[in-house]
Amino acid sequence: HVKESPSKGYSRFHPSMQEVALKKIRLENLLSKAIDRNELEVYYQPQIDLVSNRPVSIEALLRWQRPGKGHTQPADFIPIAEESGLIIPIGAWVLIQACNFCRHLHSLGLEDIYVTVNISTKQVEQPNFIRTVEDILAETGLHPHQLELEITESLFMNSFDACIQKFNQLKAMGLRLALDDFGTGYSSLTYLRHLPIDTLKMDKDFLQELHTENFSIVEAIIRLAHILNIKVVAEGVEVPEHVSFLCNVLCDRAQGYLFCKPVSEQEVIDFLSQFQRVAASTSK
Ligand code: C2E
Ligand code: MG
Ligand code: MG
Ligand code: MG
Repeated sequence: HVKESPSKGYSRFHPSMQEVALKKIRLENLLSKAIDRNELEVYYQPQIDLVSNRPVSIEALLRWQRPGKGHTQPADFIPIAEESGLIIPIGAWVLIQACNFCRHLHSLGLEDIYVTVNISTKQVEQPNFIRTVEDILAETGLHPHQLELEITESLFMNSFDACIQKFNQLKAMGLRLALDDFGTGYSSLTYLRHLPIDTLKMDKDFLQELHTENFSIVEAIIRLAHILNIKVVAEGVEVPEHVSFLCNVLCDRAQGYLFCKPVSEQEVIDFLSQFQRVAASTSK
């Protein structure tokens, strides 16, 4: 063992490395069976256009319902899925669900809604990643323009050029691309200029610490994004004050508990349908 606890007294209050490793292996084993056991479910959270005050898209967010254990949070199992490679089949499964569901929304008359799906680095690094996306679009019949892939900055740490090439290919196919969790990583501004992205998702940290300095930073980020022809979505919009601030700085869209938390398929249909009825009754 290379790592030793700094003091024996300290380590007594923490699970041993061995326990942590065992817990991980157990979770990984359970996760590998989760798809077949129908324990995974995709929830959806609407993104609201701040000019029209209407939902424009929904983000697919994975949920793992373990029998007798309730929900396991993505933060607790996505990293395990990524490390073990399970994110490859799970990620493909999420994509299929999300594309099928978006088609279903269109069949209900909710034609303007598109779906956004989180994609992990491991997926993009697969040599057949583009082909997988192509196949899923073909099988589900969803138009590429109605699918947005959310990627994070961590992607570019290792293989910036290879990734840019893949993203240019996806753009050429007609897909939308979003940069997720913007502002949490490194030299983000450099990436912005070189990435073929449509949307920038500003991390919820910005709104949660909305003092004067962050205020100016957010305003500058949005201005820069607009110069580059990129729309900005604010994450973690929880209170009306957030919305007035975002409108002031010309943010394009908002996503957060204030509008709707991530919910089941039926609940998001109900949410989206309200706006459809409002539109139908005002146009008559
Ligand atoms: P993310 O993509 O940044 O997703 C936004 C997270 O913020 C979601 O957490 C969402 O439930 C949460 N959120 C939404 N509105 C609010 C709000 O008003 N306040 C606060 N405090 N939080 C809000 P969730 O669902 O736990 O997902 C966590 C992360 O797990 C996601 O972050 C994403 O990185 C990852 N993830 C989720 N589903 C998938 C998936 O299918 N594939 C991959 N690769 N990653 C996923
Ligand atoms: Mg996301
Ligand atoms: Mg995010
Ligand atoms: Mg996040």
